[in-house]
Amino acid sequence: MRKPIIAGNWKMFKTVSEATAFFADVKGKAEVDGVEAVICAPYTTLPALVEAAKGTTIAIGAQNLHFEDNGAFTGEISGVMLKDLGVKYVIIGHSERRAYFAESDEIVNKKVHAAFKHGLTPIVCVGEKLEEREAEQTKDVCKVQTEAAFQGISAAQAVEVVIAYEPIWAIGTGKSSTSADAEDVIAYIRSVVAGLYDAATAEAVRIQYGGSVKPNNVAEYLGQPNIDGALVGGASLEAASFIELARGAK
Ligand code: 13P
Repeated sequence: MRKPIIAGNWKMFKTVSEATAFFADVKGKAEVDGVEAVICAPYTTLPALVEAAKGTTIAIGAQNLHFEDNGAFTGEISGVMLKDLGVKYVIIGHSERRAYFAESDEIVNKKVHAAFKHGLTPIVCVGEKLEEREAEQTKDVCKVQTEAAFQGISAAQAVEVVIAYEPIWAIGTGKSSTSADAEDVIAYIRSVVAGLYDAATAEAVRIQYGGSVKPNNVAEYLGQPNIDGALVGGASLEAASFIELARGAK
């Protein structure tokens, strides 16, 4: 049985004091039996959030990492550093990083390896652009991105990966994929994982939907047989809404 996972992706929002105030508000309330709640926050807020999350069931994640452990990479943060902080999850290959920071499938794969090297759980994002959807290339794009991300990853590691299917046209637009469409693509992504490994591995991998998920539609997505959670941007920024998302995932 795959445990539902609701992850907030705060993107470039919140100062340290805003982050700790948020955490104080969600503590206890967003801790729901049978649901994993994760907050993927800006680097600057991670030490305070990891400290605040001690003794709670809420996990803290980063939104990126560099694939090298250290070196002359000005402005970058490595898996060693995140592990040292006590961070558990790391988002890899978000479409915003692919689009604005030139992250290729090859870089994404290197980052997945780096995450495992340091005991971090990767949340790997895949998803098509609007023009790819219109050209009926959604599944092809997701296949290429998924296969690339898993290259050289063992089956034992693969079962730990969380995949987030985020159609790019649905991010921050209020235009969410229908739950049936999301289910169709996510079931397909699961079949791609089965092709790379085997049916048991594919059954164990958790796959989230992301793109304009809100408290009022989260249950509908999670009600689909292959959708195991949500990666949420805008609606994860308000404490009350994050609590509702976690509760709605049950
Ligand atoms: P929104 O929930 O704001 O559409 O963002 C989705 C997303 O990109 C999460 O990673």
